[in-house]
Amino acid sequence: MTNGGIIREITHCRICGGDKLVKYLDLGMMPLANNLADSAAAAKAMQRYPMQVLYCRDCSLSQLSVVIDPRELFSKYAYRSSIGRGYLDHCRTMARSVRDSPGLQPGDLVVDIAGNDGALLSVFKNELGVRVINVDPAKNLVEIAAAAGVPTITSFWGADVARQVVSEYGRPKLITATNVFAHVDNVRDFVAAAKDCLDDDGALMLEFPYGVDFIEHREFDTIYFEHLSYILIGPTKRLTEDVDMQLFDVQKQEIHGGSVRVFIGKQNAHEVCPSVAEFIAKEAAGGYHDVAVYENWKREIRALIDDLVSQISKLKKGGAKIAGFAASAKGNTLLNACRFDASTIDYIVDDTPEKIGRFSPGTGIPIVDRTVLANDPPDYLVILAWNFAREIIDSTAEYSGAGGKYIIPIPAFKIIDIWKRQ
Ligand SMILES: [Zn+2]
Repeated sequence: MTNGGIIREITHCRICGGDKLVKYLDLGMMPLANNLADSAAAAKAMQRYPMQVLYCRDCSLSQLSVVIDPRELFSKYAYRSSIGRGYLDHCRTMARSVRDSPGLQPGDLVVDIAGNDGALLSVFKNELGVRVINVDPAKNLVEIAAAAGVPTITSFWGADVARQVVSEYGRPKLITATNVFAHVDNVRDFVAAAKDCLDDDGALMLEFPYGVDFIEHREFDTIYFEHLSYILIGPTKRLTEDVDMQLFDVQKQEIHGGSVRVFIGKQNAHEVCPSVAEFIAKEAAGGYHDVAVYENWKREIRALIDDLVSQISKLKKGGAKIAGFAASAKGNTLLNACRFDASTIDYIVDDTPEKIGRFSPGTGIPIVDRTVLANDPPDYLVILAWNFAREIIDSTAEYSGAGGKYIIPIPAFKIIDIWKRQ
């Protein structure tokens, strides 16, 4: 076993550069979530890395203790983002919102960083009549994006791509990065490249899972190696000031278990909304700028994992058949943290064609399509993608109609029996 995938260990905070980092959670050695295997044995033998979270006493950022080579994590093969109606609805609402504030006109340029299969930009183009450019390293999705009318620069975001955008397409009014900023190691270069690229009154819009929801709702399963930072507004403001930009608005979003959408512009280009100070004051009042909250959380998470293991093992010993829904990164963290394998969870149902027939990393649990729910139904379906619980329950009505029950694992073990109307 080598540690070849680790490109650096974190000794200094990626936002403030401080070295007062406190390790507050250790989930043990974990495999990479998106490395699906071709056999159960290969899945179990997979390379593992330490999964630990550090808290910065200087700026309150939570971050993983190691950085895995992004080429290992992101560019080999990427899965499509546009599967799922909930996500497309989110994109449409976002398009209307940014049209009004900070404001977009037909013909304006919008750049989406890590835009995947072009789903978001396709919505922007159709709804707003803007010009669009996707920047994404996943080569297998370029053609899908092109078919949706979204041209892609195949690359990670950075200063070179920013220059390329300006020389080939002009200066964007809006740069969006949804669910990608928390995956970025060098956040200063990331934001600075946007500053060099943006129009003078343009805006960089970041949307990322909110650090307060992460703690409040015990979302320990959102810890995976792609997800380098667990972000509050306090450290975000500090970062923007360090690169001579201005955080001018913060909006709460419910997607992905609670996210925030932040808007960053050049200095004095936009009026600063009261939301910025309000979010920071709330974080301070809730103790999120102090290590004690995180130390306490660690104990809560240990108890939650122990409870999940004991409840699910008890059902299994009683003869129940148990399956999971959605072979997602979060499912992978939860299953590995609980040390489950196919002797406890028979299979994982997923809708992504490329995942079917493969095996979940570390656990070796087979991934199957939905037809298995009818042909070989479990007694309990653990909703691993709990952020889409409503959609999953609605779309498996036949299963629950035949008496199948659901288990929601986060923020606490809960059985849902539709017929009992709990
Ligand atoms: Zn810091």
